[in-house]
Amino acid sequence: MSAQPLVEARGIKMHFPVRPSLLAKLLAGRKDQWVKAVDGVDLHIYPGETLGLVGESGCGKTSLGRVLARLYEPTAGTVVYASHDGDSGESVLLGEGAPPAQRSSRRARRAERVSFYQNTQLIFQNPYSSLNPRKTVRQIVSVPLRNKGLRDPLALEAEVARLLQRVGIPERRMDAYPHQFSGGQRQRIGIARALAMQPRFIICDEPVSALDVSIQAQVINLLAELQEEFNLTYLFIAHDLSVVHYVSNRVAIMYLGKIAEEGPTDEVFRHPAHPYTQALMAAVPVVDREARRERIILEGTVPSPVDPPSCCRFHTRCFTRLGKICEEQEPSFVAVGEGHRAACHLLSP
Ligand code: SF4
Repeated sequence: MSAQPLVEARGIKMHFPVRPSLLAKLLAGRKDQWVKAVDGVDLHIYPGETLGLVGESGCGKTSLGRVLARLYEPTAGTVVYASHDGDSGESVLLGEGAPPAQRSSRRARRAERVSFYQNTQLIFQNPYSSLNPRKTVRQIVSVPLRNKGLRDPLALEAEVARLLQRVGIPERRMDAYPHQFSGGQRQRIGIARALAMQPRFIICDEPVSALDVSIQAQVINLLAELQEEFNLTYLFIAHDLSVVHYVSNRVAIMYLGKIAEEGPTDEVFRHPAHPYTQALMAAVPVVDREARRERIILEGTVPSPVDPPSCCRFHTRCFTRLGKICEEQEPSFVAVGEGHRAACHLLSP
């Protein structure tokens, strides 16, 4: 693995405002509150790898993916994207560290965004809503090609046909509408649209969770083939640990807006260090009786991201809680193996 990250997120926060109704404001004097979806995340993604991002629903993984895809402007923090032409040239910066031209000048921002989206693409979770139902597949896949500057109708048609064939959609179905395809085929069309820009980095936001299990395997295998063929880098967001184990080189476990543990996938699955990861792993069904882990039942529900627990976010549900220190002191990351780290006071020397 290259030592130079392709994408580096530093201290990313993504907070969304929750505005109380006028009545609640008048009666209870409630002030604006914030959903702290992502609350201080550092992440490195290296060229050619698949980083799995795992966590329960509402832990902030999709919000983090959308910050990296520049669909959200982060509340705080910086994302550094390696230069587009290898190790030389300018990196793209997003967030607090971004130069003013990238943040305020409209023309500069547009040019820079087009360049950005030639390198970074997103595959959405829901193949039923991510394609425009009023456009044909030809029109859907043509949009990024036109944005890239391909105008000649014959060349455009040939490129659309090539992309569709590569993802397993017959060329003759180019003029069909999304509703005429199955869920798996629609996800393939979404992948073809993402590939049209010839990106280096693709954020796969739960790309198979809306599909049948048999179709999931086909789409996952397609993504793996494309990664090898085009040297793609993936951020694979999912809540299904078996899928993440199969596709990822490294995995990051997220809980209530923070990363709890990160490391090589096999290592994290074999030796989870953070109590939250241990509870997640214990919940994975295993056929082999010998390999089964003791079930860990977490108490309570996931706290609200509007008012998350202080310091260690997991302390309200942790079965190995150490006491006051977990509520009063933010746990730092501790290295527990080669490239494997976890944030828990239990691991501190
Ligand atoms: Fe549990 Fe404390 Fe570790 Fe948090 S820091 S996971 S509460 S032991």
